[in-house]
Amino acid sequence: MKIDGLKFCVIGGGIGGLASALALRQRGADVTLLEQAPALTEVGAGLQISENGMCVLRALGVEGQSVGQKSDGTVIRDYRKGRVISRLPGPLAGPTFYFHRADLLNLLHEAARKAGVAIRLGARVTALRKHPNEAEIVLETGERIRTECAVAADGGRSIIRPTLNGPERPEFTHQVAWRATIPWQLGPDAITASLSMGPGRHVVTYPLRDQSMMNIVAVEERSDWREEGWKLKGDPDDLRARFAGFGGPVRDILSKVAEVKLWALFLRPVAQSWQNGRLVLLGDAAHPTLPFMAQGACLALEDAWALVRSFDDQSGVTSALAAYETTRRPRAQQVVAAAGANAHNFHLRGPARLAAQCALMVAGGQLSRRFEWIYSHDVTA
Ligand SMILES: Cc1cc2nc3c(=O)[nH]c(=O)nc-3n(C[C@H](O)[C@H](O)[C@H](O)COP(=O)(O)OP(=O)(O)OC[C@H]3O[C@@H](n4cnc5c(N)ncnc54)[C@H](O)[C@@H]3O)c2cc1C
Repeated sequence: MKIDGLKFCVIGGGIGGLASALALRQRGADVTLLEQAPALTEVGAGLQISENGMCVLRALGVEGQSVGQKSDGTVIRDYRKGRVISRLPGPLAGPTFYFHRADLLNLLHEAARKAGVAIRLGARVTALRKHPNEAEIVLETGERIRTECAVAADGGRSIIRPTLNGPERPEFTHQVAWRATIPWQLGPDAITASLSMGPGRHVVTYPLRDQSMMNIVAVEERSDWREEGWKLKGDPDDLRARFAGFGGPVRDILSKVAEVKLWALFLRPVAQSWQNGRLVLLGDAAHPTLPFMAQGACLALEDAWALVRSFDDQSGVTSALAAYETTRRPRAQQVVAAAGANAHNFHLRGPARLAAQCALMVAGGQLSRRFEWIYSHDVTA
């Protein structure tokens, strides 16, 4: 089906929303993007994009390499003194890149704007209704927009998802993530992520931009949390106290943290229903995931391309959205499950931890290949 001139409304200006708006516009669709925030800003934080996401950026003509740092792999460390347990090479599928989120969002935003996507900021959607051949979007201001297809890319706390799936209670995963960036001066070392694993907690760090910045994600198991939401202000001294058992490079890095955000990781399952023939979910709105495979944004990029591709192969909007759901749901379920399993693997205690360290020492390279099915998935092929 040709989508030239077909009217699409994308709700949400995150990575999934911007990528899908751009992909649809490149095929000639008439695309409006509605973002609730008054500006497309992003807190200082990093994002790893593996080859399955990078191939979508390339297909969209977005030169991610220009602002990302090409990774040389991952160093796994024991938490106490930072002893290196294993050096894992990058995926065979192709290198991963480390991005400052704001840089990647800017690239997508600029490309979408230049391609002719109408981007409306400060446009908060409050409801969505289906009509026989249209979707009707209601904005906070009372304005109503009719469109032939609505793409809900409004994130893990999507207000559109209940339209298709009814009310759902998010589940607290008992994981809390601290996130910060610090100024950094990397030596002549390779550009790697460092994963330090301790009982019930882990810390991931990797360099950003021209390596002048270090990204930090520190995750701990906790039970004392009720509030779903992110970008809560944290106390750097509290962070240091909670990760006081970590030595080596992590201690040095944490000592430089001046500002930190933290949030509890709440999760909804992969949505049962992704579309109704006129409205479709994309990205975290369809399949929120724990960050332990660094795949949420990569999946959102895959979704964006797969959505547009589904129109090529089908004769109408309804069948295109059904085909998109059929191809994307199993993939999202598998990746989300892998990320959930890693939460356990990263935080092992006692003998299980020692056994895992031995396995990583002996066969780390081979073990890292078990996720090749994630990275080699090329939706643009
Ligand atoms: C600690 C952490 C680390 C991560 N690291 C990685 C990583 O390394 N690699 C990776 O691939 N993924 C990573 N992720 C996951 C990734 O951040 C998300 O999966 C990804 O950002 C989802 O993109 P999205 O476009 O679906 O949603 P979002 O980025 O959440 O964007 C949703 C947008 O919709 C807007 N919106 C919401 N409601 C409305 C409304 N009612 N009306 C209008 N606009 C609305 C929001 O303002 C927002 O701009 C990480 C996540 C966390 C928590």
